[in-house]
Amino acid sequence: MDALEVEDLVMHYGPVRAVDGVTLRIRQGSVVALVGESGSGKSTVGRCIVRLVEPSGGTVHLAGVDITHLNRRQLRPHRRNVSIVFQDPAGSLDPRLSVGDIVGEPLRLMRRKDIPAKVNEALRRVGLRPEVAHRAPHELSGGQRQRVSIARALISEPHLLVADEPTSALDVSVQAAVLNLLADLQRDLGFACLFITHDLSAVEYLADEVAVMYLGQLVEQGPRARIFGKPAHPYTQALLSAAPVPDPAEQRARRPVLLGDDLPSAIDPPSGCRFHTRCPVAVDKCRTVVPERRTIGEGGHQVACHLVNDDGTGPDVRPTEGA
Ligand code: SF4
Ligand code: MG
Repeated sequence: MDALEVEDLVMHYGPVRAVDGVTLRIRQGSVVALVGESGSGKSTVGRCIVRLVEPSGGTVHLAGVDITHLNRRQLRPHRRNVSIVFQDPAGSLDPRLSVGDIVGEPLRLMRRKDIPAKVNEALRRVGLRPEVAHRAPHELSGGQRQRVSIARALISEPHLLVADEPTSALDVSVQAAVLNLLADLQRDLGFACLFITHDLSAVEYLADEVAVMYLGQLVEQGPRARIFGKPAHPYTQALLSAAPVPDPAEQRARRPVLLGDDLPSAIDPPSGCRFHTRCPVAVDKCRTVVPERRTIGEGGHQVACHLVNDDGTGPDVRPTEGA
């Protein structure tokens, strides 16, 4: 049984087609990174999975249980199985509560015993001293507040953690520490994770698999090494070409693919392949026919592009050195 199975997920807000048919699985204990530009629908997928919103279509199974349309009361016993950490810890922590009350809240809702001891343990796990329990969130630094969010998210020992841009609101100087903490906790506790991010170096460091989202849909997904090594979809190639690499010589040799136009509106997305208005190699068919998702290699590497061959070869929109 997978930690998460999302089948043909749809989320429309009025005319806005924020998510439009996303299918995604996360195995127990594995990390899937969901990447794409802002406005691509990544956060909406996360919000559907933790049922902050009720999907307009499709299904969400959490550890085998269909939670797609459960009401508040029906959801309660499943809440402990999934947690979310948001981008901005200042906005997600109740300023009227002490840190101890915030971290212990999920256990109180489950009517657990020995909450103070468990709160201390949760704080210790994220590298905070027990005294912090008596402080208010605003007395802490941004990095400490995000550690508090992580402690609260993990105190119920969820099967799945959704981390939505967990470091992007933090000072650059503390981003790496929080990322390392998440990686260590994931390895030690073994929860599955949907890691929503635009930080591609973090993806390379943390993720087992990568799913690439464009305008409400997944265009490519597969094992991290395959996505980074042989990205098949022109959008993935463009996205990765802009990512920083550790080797300065390689960085100079690489040139980002410029996509020109902004992301089109999700109110009236382009016909056919949604990427056709920006794709450097689009052909006529791309404007009219929706490309189906196909498996192109081991480990469930899948892509939705007319021009990619079944063996994964096809267009490469990245400029080669000297070109
Ligand atoms: Fe580009 Fe066509 Fe492939 Fe879409 S289907 S990515 S427009 S080549
Ligand atoms: Mg977002």
